[in-house]
Amino acid sequence: MKHIAILGCTGSIGCSTLQIIRQNPDLFKVKCLIAGNNTNLLLQQAQEFLPDIVAIDNSNNIEMLKQHLPSSCKLFVGSHEVLLALQQNYDLVISAVVGIAGLLPTITAIKAGNNIALANKESLVCGGDLINQLAKKHNVSILPIDSEHNALWQIINSCGIEAIDSIVLTASGGPFLNFTGDIKTITVADALKHPKWQMGAKISIDSATMMNKGLEVIEAYYLFAGITSDQIKVLIHPQSIVHGLVNYRDGSSFAMLSEPDMKISIGSALNFPHRLTNHNKLCLKQIAKLEFFDVDLNKFPAFKLCQQALQNKGSSLITLNASNEVAVEAFLQQKIAFWQIPAIIEETLNRANFSSPSCFEEIININQLAKNIAQQLIANI
Ligand code: MG
Repeated sequence: MKHIAILGCTGSIGCSTLQIIRQNPDLFKVKCLIAGNNTNLLLQQAQEFLPDIVAIDNSNNIEMLKQHLPSSCKLFVGSHEVLLALQQNYDLVISAVVGIAGLLPTITAIKAGNNIALANKESLVCGGDLINQLAKKHNVSILPIDSEHNALWQIINSCGIEAIDSIVLTASGGPFLNFTGDIKTITVADALKHPKWQMGAKISIDSATMMNKGLEVIEAYYLFAGITSDQIKVLIHPQSIVHGLVNYRDGSSFAMLSEPDMKISIGSALNFPHRLTNHNKLCLKQIAKLEFFDVDLNKFPAFKLCQQALQNKGSSLITLNASNEVAVEAFLQQKIAFWQIPAIIEETLNRANFSSPSCFEEIININQLAKNIAQQLIANI
């Protein structure tokens, strides 16, 4: 029986994880549920799964929780107590918060010696070196849940990293892969309409700009030690059936294929090294055609900015992520146009000073400075 904590339990990944646990009550026990501010859903989940600890970051509207929470659940309120909840011992912490907000909770769980199933790519993008150092020091495994990284991890686990020539992350191409109209007419609703994956708003916009794939390249760089940035390739694959591919030096290639269903990636990390049962089986005959193309860098400038930031590393990665978080939020609030997202990121990168952070405080400081620059740029539009 694995004891599980879920950081971000009310989001899309959190809910999928609970769905798997619901179907496998003899394998997993939810020990801790942590949400940002969705009190209603958190309460519902707590009543069903009866964890020891229920934690919520936002302290408004907790009276209702206090009244209805099962008496066996201990309630933790506020960001400080969320960290306390993560300092308890679990077999696995699912880190599924969006954005750099996930960095400190993830670090805290690692320092407590908890293995991490990671869906929060931004924490690796901004604090990759720090997380890897801490994971090594505390003997913690980082198991990727992001579908592409999970695919690569499943393959590399069985074959080893030394003989690898390159690894390939696939990308659906998002809603604008074949868009030929005027980019200035793109609305929030258009950008949220992902053809293959149902996800939260931030990652859906990141997929539309292909920032998501750029962040994933950086995530892969920090996840798979020994792989250089030149060895990480991306191919557009509109069918989203091949999630990751490893090319070995001897010419053999191994791919991980599945229906686009996050529960398959989450389940493989949850029950590692064993496999769960999922009835969403692949039927290649029905799919019939698998296509692969290069990324059009002119069409998706955000992807190129990620590649450049990975060459520079250090504060460039944090600035890239921070300005993207600000720009996506502004786009969702209809303060800027879709095409301005990469423009804001590029200009923020131009204006920010470069440094090489060595601790969490420096990362947060750089993040704040970059957010200030991006917000100023948006205010001036
Ligand atoms: Mg992904």
